[in-house]
Amino acid sequence: MRIGFGYDSHRLVEGRKLIIGGVEVPFEKGPIGHSDADVLCHAITDAIIGALGLGDIGKHFPDSDTKWKNAVSVELLKYMVELAVMNGYALSWVDTTIIIEQPKISPFIDAMKDSLSKTGILPGKINIKAKTNEGMGFIGRGEGIAAYAVCLLEKI
Ligand code: MG
Repeated sequence: MRIGFGYDSHRLVEGRKLIIGGVEVPFEKGPIGHSDADVLCHAITDAIIGALGLGDIGKHFPDSDTKWKNAVSVELLKYMVELAVMNGYALSWVDTTIIIEQPKISPFIDAMKDSLSKTGILPGKINIKAKTNEGMGFIGRGEGIAAYAVCLLEKI
């Protein structure tokens, strides 16, 4: 068995869509980044890379590579799930936490699970939690969004 841990954060700015887990959440601000800046997908991707012992997300999808500009992060995650299978591992479980002060994320969690099933992570193999940062720090001030993920891979 292999365990992986992932983290991601992005700055929230006006004029960007708030895409989390491949789902657009209506809000006045969205995360800025090279790709669609989907923190949930990036944290899970980072966790899988960690479990595989293959470095970090920047190594696999560098900012400097125009191939990944405006990339759909669900596709990056799908690629990483496939890479795990190619390395002989099945994704047994993923647990995640999204941290954002506003808006309320819980109504969108089922849609996120549906959306992530396109990557090969089935709804019965992932848990998505959402919380605020109780008004503290950059998240509390509404300046950013973050996500954490852990995953368990098992040798096929
Ligand atoms: Mg990111």
